Amino acid sequence: MQPESPEEYHARIAAHLGADGRLPVAVEEMPGWDIYPYEVGSLRMKPLQPLADSEPPRRGEDAADCWCAGPPDERPEWLDGYVWRNERWVLTANLEQSLPVFLTLVPVSTHCDLPSVPADLAAEMGQLIVAISAAVEALPSVGRVQLAKWGDGGAHLHLAFLGRPARVLQFRGSPLLDWAENLPDVPADVLRVNAEFVAAHLAAAVGGEVGRALPSR
Ligand SMILES: [Zn+2]
Repeated sequence: MQPESPEEYHARIAAHLGADGRLPVAVEEMPGWDIYPYEVGSLRMKPLQPLADSEPPRRGEDAADCWCAGPPDERPEWLDGYVWRNERWVLTANLEQSLPVFLTLVPVSTHCDLPSVPADLAAEMGQLIVAISAAVEALPSVGRVQLAKWGDGGAHLHLAFLGRPARVLQFRGSPLLDWAENLPDVPADVLRVNAEFVAAHLAAAVGGEVGRALPSR
């Protein structure tokens, strides 16, 4: 048996659509759980879109067009707002968001995505993931670190570390981002202190240089 095709995968979903082209809301699954942010009675699934002809190119899909191929003085502004860096990696903090901490780890010495990280960088990435995770969970207002890799927008690897607020059990699990989209922003000075706390712990664990988070990215 061969792995199935995109058409076969999509056709299975399409076979479950109602007359209006929508799936029913899975009320027995996560939409019915306490951690889901929306009331089930108010939910309606969007109609299923047709299968795309192909995957669209992302920003920096061609390494020559990626920000990392440009001259150092034309690199993106958010790289200047790092909270920690070494010669190969930069950790930046988003200071306009609603969680105690939202950090992004990016390789800066090599253009790669997760499936193409060179072996030496991959080994260091593993150590950094551990050290950043420990530093985030050391924050008093964080109950758990959550790690995400979304690769649909930019082709250059970026790993996200999200601090799930301590003792807010309703924010557990993958609906955290849905909650975060609806929560008030944490003041930037609070986010900066939290990010610099993480950076200091990280530097103590693995070395590198602590920087100062910038208000926008
Ligand atoms: Zn790149």
